[in-house]
Amino acid sequence: MKKTVVITGSSRGIGAQTALKFAENGYNVVINYNHSKEKALNLLSVIRTKGTDAIALKADIANPSECEYLINKSIEEFGHIDVLVNNAGIAQQKLFTDISRNEWIHMFDVNVHGMFYCTQNAVRNMISRHKGKIINVSSVWGVTGGSCEVHYSACKPAVIGFTKALAKELGPSGIQVNCVAPGVIETDMNSELKLSESEIEEIKNETPCMRLGTPQDVSEAIFFLSEPSS
Ligand code: NAD
Repeated sequence: MKKTVVITGSSRGIGAQTALKFAENGYNVVINYNHSKEKALNLLSVIRTKGTDAIALKADIANPSECEYLINKSIEEFGHIDVLVNNAGIAQQKLFTDISRNEWIHMFDVNVHGMFYCTQNAVRNMISRHKGKIINVSSVWGVTGGSCEVHYSACKPAVIGFTKALAKELGPSGIQVNCVAPGVIETDMNSELKLSESEIEEIKNETPCMRLGTPQDVSEAIFFLSEPSS
């Protein structure tokens, strides 16, 4: 039976590259987007040329009922979910004293609460099959903290804590929960942060391979974590 992967926030960046990686490996792919319908549909047609099945579903990950729709519709379409990648995320650079209550709440709604809603819905299907993989996308800022990104840096350790606890709870049910914590990756998220040349050079110098990461680097790690251990 063909496996199915659901990837939140997969119209671009790490999510889109991950969708391609799973498609190349024969998975049914569920692309999720919120506003970027055109990009999602372009990706859908690229994936279909690879001879695998895919659908694109609009769902705002910050909204519990839309997360429920995303998961239920994926199960209705493909019968089951083998892998859920909680990738959708937002970032913002702002002085701590300028972060509004709404910005703080929205950051958690997308980066943390959306992961909770999608996972809870997907796990019900996985438990009944006694198998499944959940891969969450944290960040190095969740480990080290990032100046002028306190709200983002507060969300990403929550992803790590969620992952560790759920891995213990679901391991006995045959479900593995992992996360990746990428360093700085070349995507729109960072271009929107408008880092200066000198900031980018500084980041490269602090990175062991002396370069920024790519969406492909992260997609390889996510795919590795989704495969059964031999
Ligand atoms: P990106 O901005 O290109 O992609 C983020 C995706 O999430 C987009 O497709 C966006 O539309 C989607 N999204 C945002 N809000 C959404 C919502 N409410 N509902 C549905 N989708 C929504 O950035 P990226 O770098 O590809 O980020 C992917 C993940 O990787 C994020 O969780 C991010 O925090 C994490 N990450 C990124 C970096 C980096 O340097 N780029 C580093 C570490 C971790």
